[in-house]
Amino acid sequence: MKSGAEASLGPVCLTLDVEPDYGRATTTRILDRISPFLDWLSANRIPMTAFVTGQLIAQHHPIVDQLVAAGVSVELHGHDHRAEGFGTLRDSHADEINRGTEAYVKRFGRVPSGYRAPAGVISAADLQLLASLGYRYDSSVFPVRRKGCYDFSHFPRHPFRWMEPDLPEFPVGLLAPRIPAGLSFINLLGPTLAAVLIRRAVKRIWVPYVVDGHFHNLFPDSTALATLPAGLRGLYVLGQWSGGFKGFRSLVDRLREAGVTLAGIHEIASQNTAMLPGVSLAAFESRAAP
Ligand SMILES: [Zn+2]
Repeated sequence: MKSGAEASLGPVCLTLDVEPDYGRATTTRILDRISPFLDWLSANRIPMTAFVTGQLIAQHHPIVDQLVAAGVSVELHGHDHRAEGFGTLRDSHADEINRGTEAYVKRFGRVPSGYRAPAGVISAADLQLLASLGYRYDSSVFPVRRKGCYDFSHFPRHPFRWMEPDLPEFPVGLLAPRIPAGLSFINLLGPTLAAVLIRRAVKRIWVPYVVDGHFHNLFPDSTALATLPAGLRGLYVLGQWSGGFKGFRSLVDRLREAGVTLAGIHEIASQNTAMLPGVSLAAFESRAAP
């Protein structure tokens, strides 16, 4: 599965979740402000995967065409993406998956390659449904424990394969034990330290390493920020100061300078994934759900 020059590290797969909220504030205003980001992606040919909600696709939101025009691989991130009451790892989210897939097929004429569950809440029933619909991979797992929500801390921290159904899983990477490679954390650490941690992780063993983020990690929206709880607002403001779009550009530059290859998850999932370690859904049921 290895691609690129022999000396290269990675690949690192950069991903974004595109949804109708900013942090926990419901607004898509930020999507009108991201053209500098899309211009930068195109100009520098940076592979990027965006998991977009079915609702935005069904509404013909211009973001979908803009992402496609910038060369971004558009995949599915549920449908409504309600932050509250999304259920647990024991629930089926068939309605979210089916409606999202329907909107996607209507727009693109094919089933998405990849799926990321809203809030990382994916169930065994959901994985079976994704495989039966023809998805090529899932990227919903955060290999950490989120109290009352899920516990994937005992699962592989690198790509693996759900068995029966056969579906590759690309978990979000870890910057350090219990710290996922999310842009919220990367922003707080700053690009220099984050690049060192990611490079160290991909140097240990060749595995695709997934980074996850949101547009609210890249661009500020003071109106939306004002509606967030003070603690969360403080974290985002601090993160914008030490990271944001400028920090993200710097992170990508540092990774590339260090010989790290960037790739889209779909490119890897379309290769031979049979060699990935297998994890049974029975293990999922007994170990991941609280
Ligand atoms: Zn989301």
